[in-house]
Amino acid sequence: MRCDILTLFPKMVSSVLEESILKRAQEKGLLDVRIINIRDYTTDKHKMVDDYPYGGGAGMVMKIEPIFNAVDAIKSDYPELRIIIASPQGITFNHNKAVELSREKRRLVFVCGHYEGIDERVRLGLGAEEISIGDYILTGGELPAMVIIDAAARLIPGVLGDEDSARHDSFADFLLDYPQYTRPPDYKGMNVPEVLLSGNHEEIRKWRRMQAIKNTYYKRPDLLEKMKLTDEDKKILNEVKKKT
Ligand code: SAM
Repeated sequence: MRCDILTLFPKMVSSVLEESILKRAQEKGLLDVRIINIRDYTTDKHKMVDDYPYGGGAGMVMKIEPIFNAVDAIKSDYPELRIIIASPQGITFNHNKAVELSREKRRLVFVCGHYEGIDERVRLGLGAEEISIGDYILTGGELPAMVIIDAAARLIPGVLGDEDSARHDSFADFLLDYPQYTRPPDYKGMNVPEVLLSGNHEEIRKWRRMQAIKNTYYKRPDLLEKMKLTDEDKKILNEVKKKT
């Protein structure tokens, strides 16, 4: 996955990219992220990136010229771009969108807004799509861009140490994950379920499937409606329902 992040606050994204799995993904060449400071693409002597809104009202609006200049510069190296504006007005980000972006061959350009938002002509003129990370308002688009990149990057083969973990994660097949335990087996009388210590792989698989279905049934029953249940799943679900 190859991306550029257009931001007024580069440190807000560099700090995330310089740690843990995203850092290793870049070192392995599986993720290529450039951070572009929009201010570097201003042409006036005050390096203005925002201005008052036409029509009046509170706050400032991010200007169109520096963003267009930055995108033009990216285009001269990479003509095939998919431009994404982090915006609370966009479609809501989810697992399917993360999968789609993780497979994107074009270079992704994330535009991070601030203040009252971005001059509308950026969206219209660049043919950009808008993605929201939820129905609430953040101070800027940097955290949303990083949420989106993080969720997509961990789906790229080779990014996670163990390929199996992404397959079992919540939402991978509409099921929430089963509960996880680690040592010690007994903490102040709170015990790890016996089956996990048994070494019986088939019993562990069945237990985990049961727990995943139970978790989903109790916490997110809406997901079960989207899921294709196997005969085994249907049996488990009936058992779970009987116990409630
Ligand atoms: N006035 C804008 C509105 O009501 O739609 C909100 C502007 S917000 C304070 C500043 C910037 O933060 C936005 O331009 C966007 O880039 C980012 N942002 C805020 N909330 C977001 C969300 N839920 N999802 C994605 N981006 C968000």
